[in-house]
Amino acid sequence: MTGQVQGKVALVTGGSSGIGAAVSELLAREGAAVVVTDIDDLKGPEVVAGIKKAGHEAVFLHQDVTSEPRWAEVVAEVEKRFGRLDILVSNAGIGISVPSIVHMSLEDWRRQTAINLDGVFLSVKHCLPAMRRRGGGSIIMMSSLAGLRGAQTLAGYCATKGGVRLFAKAIAMECASFGDGIRVNSVHPGIIDTPIWGKIPMEASGSGTNAPIDPEERARLAAPLGRAGHAMEIAQGVLYLASDASRYVTGTELVIDGGMNAGGVVRQ
Ligand code: NAD
Repeated sequence: MTGQVQGKVALVTGGSSGIGAAVSELLAREGAAVVVTDIDDLKGPEVVAGIKKAGHEAVFLHQDVTSEPRWAEVVAEVEKRFGRLDILVSNAGIGISVPSIVHMSLEDWRRQTAINLDGVFLSVKHCLPAMRRRGGGSIIMMSSLAGLRGAQTLAGYCATKGGVRLFAKAIAMECASFGDGIRVNSVHPGIIDTPIWGKIPMEASGSGTNAPIDPEERARLAAPLGRAGHAMEIAQGVLYLASDASRYVTGTELVIDGGMNAGGVVRQ
């Protein structure tokens, strides 16, 4: 441990699983008190128990990121317990894949947008005032490679993640105008081996395509580095953006994708 976020208080949404769990563990290991929030009340407390067992500070709060009243309660609880909020990692998200956009129901489109985009908007709306009260902070929004490029079968997901990318830039400009050093950046993972791949509902709109997606196989073919990424490899990027090492970095996008955005590879 090098104490890169020592003494800071971090809130990580979607912290019960995958990238959010890895981010929570790494920020805690590097000295932050971490508030893990999620709708998953089974795995979230397990993540927190693991962090505490390693001798670090964390707490789990149930939170659906689409609920505005809950956002107000969560931020009030964080300030009551810890007296400050320094780092927001707006990470909770889902993916819905359909063979053609014409198969997507409006209900699925809205559910995905509510979690991936409304949830990020609400996180900033409620956390930014707390950061301004303490006079600084770092906001990190989890976008995707699909927020930079189109992805077949994931048009709705791309729309939300592209929205997150530009939302981050606009909020970075707003925060820069305050002059109190609050920075805002987006992170763009490629294919990362997390439980999200098993949850992507291919069958959501009755398309009949129901084959599970294997991230390792997909990445072996598509990623120049020839493998899927690990959640901790995304967490390392988040740690950089959360820490003072990135104090001159705002409004940018950190792509962690094994080279996918740089070009294509032909695998034998
Ligand atoms: P994951 O499914 O392992 O974790 C997502 C977490 O979000 C889960 O714990 C889930 O319970 C939580 N969540 C879902 N809906 C919620 C809601 N309404 N309120 C609060 N929490 C909610 O997935 P992951 O791969 O760790 O994904 C994390 C983020 O990274 C997502 O935004 C995802 O879009 C993004 N991402 C993932 C990949 C990848 O390949 N895994 C690639 C690019 C971007």
